Amino acid sequence: MDLSQNIQAVQKKIAAAARAAGRDPAEITLCAATKTQTDDTIRAAIAAGIRLCGENRVQELTAHLEANAYAGAEVHFIGHLQTNKVKQVVGRVSLIHSVDSERLLRAVAAQADKLGLVQDILLEVNIAGEESKGGVLPEDLPALAELAQNFACVRLRGLMAIPPVSTVSGSNRKYFSKMRNLFVDIMKKMSDNYPIMDCLSMGMSADYEDAIAEGATLVRVGTALFGPRPAMGTAR
Ligand SMILES: *Cc1c(COP(=O)(O)O)cnc(C)c1O
Repeated sequence: MDLSQNIQAVQKKIAAAARAAGRDPAEITLCAATKTQTDDTIRAAIAAGIRLCGENRVQELTAHLEANAYAGAEVHFIGHLQTNKVKQVVGRVSLIHSVDSERLLRAVAAQADKLGLVQDILLEVNIAGEESKGGVLPEDLPALAELAQNFACVRLRGLMAIPPVSTVSGSNRKYFSKMRNLFVDIMKKMSDNYPIMDCLSMGMSADYEDAIAEGATLVRVGTALFGPRPAMGTAR
């Protein structure tokens, strides 16, 4: 496996998918999903051009931060976040993708307030209504977005979704399209003076091109960059 070649190949496909959709490739950010990767692999990815890493476990985030493994890149938190772990995440990442309940929103806001900073967040949507998954249901999204607007120490930047694993090419397009519609609706509902919502985080290795066709501004890619992960401990 050649990390640098993989990164270039993914970047090319992102650009091609953007152009095919009549979009500017610069609108789309590649987030390297670094779960299970070592400090050295993360450093190698950054040396090869990765500018944003996404972590989905608090423990891994903390360890990589301590090792200064992300130097030269930004870090986002993309995994499920438990309320009792917000202290280890707020203020340490530039964006939290996975706020999905009033309780978590309040905990993030309280910690940001305590630290005297503004935490950028996305609201995670359970777009396919899967019982096993985190995310706010589409019908509960407007209320949560409205609540998020009321906290001075939290800035809502957009939405995120993890649809079912793509089996057939194109199988998640309907979910990506629904996400785009929700994103547009929520943007319209935000008050006029609210800072711009500019992030629609959707698409993974198997389906990021479809996500881009449907309006993704950030794609989270792991396997296509780093190769298959070890089976153990990869479940979300
Ligand atoms: C692991 C992970 C990804 C990347 O998955 P791949 O299929 O390996 O590209 C994206 N988003 C989240 C939240 C993840 O946990």
